[in-house]
Amino acid sequence: MELNLEETYYKAILAKDSAYEGTFITAVKTTGIFCRPTCRARKPKRENVEFFKTTKEAILSGYRPCKVCNPLEHLDETPEAIKAILAELASDPSTKFKDWDLLQRGIQPSQMRRWFLKNHGMTFQAYQRAFRINSAFKKIQNGEPVTMVAFDAGFESLSGFGDSFKAIFGSSPKHSKDKGVIDLTRLETPLGTMFACATAEGICLLEFSDRKMLETELKAIAKYLNATILQGENPHFDTLRVQLAEYFEGRRTSFTVPIHSPGTDFQQAVWEKLQEIPYGETSTYLRQATRLNRMEAVRAVGNANGMNRISIIIPCHRVVGTDGHLTGYGGGLWRKKWLLDHEQEHR
Ligand SMILES: [Zn+2]
Repeated sequence: MELNLEETYYKAILAKDSAYEGTFITAVKTTGIFCRPTCRARKPKRENVEFFKTTKEAILSGYRPCKVCNPLEHLDETPEAIKAILAELASDPSTKFKDWDLLQRGIQPSQMRRWFLKNHGMTFQAYQRAFRINSAFKKIQNGEPVTMVAFDAGFESLSGFGDSFKAIFGSSPKHSKDKGVIDLTRLETPLGTMFACATAEGICLLEFSDRKMLETELKAIAKYLNATILQGENPHFDTLRVQLAEYFEGRRTSFTVPIHSPGTDFQQAVWEKLQEIPYGETSTYLRQATRLNRMEAVRAVGNANGMNRISIIIPCHRVVGTDGHLTGYGGGLWRKKWLLDHEQEHR
């Protein structure tokens, strides 16, 4: 980092200037701890300070997060105004937000557009439509008449509803009885944004949003369950949000939220064994294969481990190399290290 920029940053931390919040991270060489620019803790000497652009870089350089300012909390958090709109939409999916409604709530439509494209890969309009169709789909599945459902969902015409429905499900509302839907939502955690999927049975996917395999996993789960993935609410998400928050606060060591994890018999067996590795402990592929009485199948165990779609809850991060080094992790090694350190500390 440039020297004069570092001087600016050092002045900012002395002044606890909140305008710099989110733009850089301060790390202290003598304590091994990294902080937000506004941390209340005692200010370090200039020569002991190192600056990073992101918390990720600080972690990779071996620093630990400060307990006073929690620099990992509220990473990538949804802006309050957008949160309020999402809550309104969840309570009544037929609500339609136009540009005017956004402006009334102090949000620029262009800001909304950028945020949705970045975080959901679609425009806010497309998101709203998906949400409405999902809620309509569930009502039709429950036997409510299509005409009434279309009207309740805020569609002005039955044919408009039919077209939107068909575009998503590939069949008309009347012929959708044999179809299924997988609800999709976005969660925020101290390690960044995650996507979660759920069926009526339970959580079927939980992954960090920047995971490279995410797209492939979503397609696989849709195919497995013969269902369409759509933005929507699901009661299991409520349980998941609470339990994940407790986990990240170090107050929960195991999960009770139901999971729904289709796969081959072998994969299911591997995933079950993963859940037997205690919180705060680690295992190896060899040990997991031995526990399955399949010592010859170490590599296959490793593959099945990598195919796990429900991270954290099915704790594939607790498997390390035989010599104790961290092996690959779909969510990135820095997250794996963070999770293992976190569990060590709170066990
Ligand atoms: Zn701090």
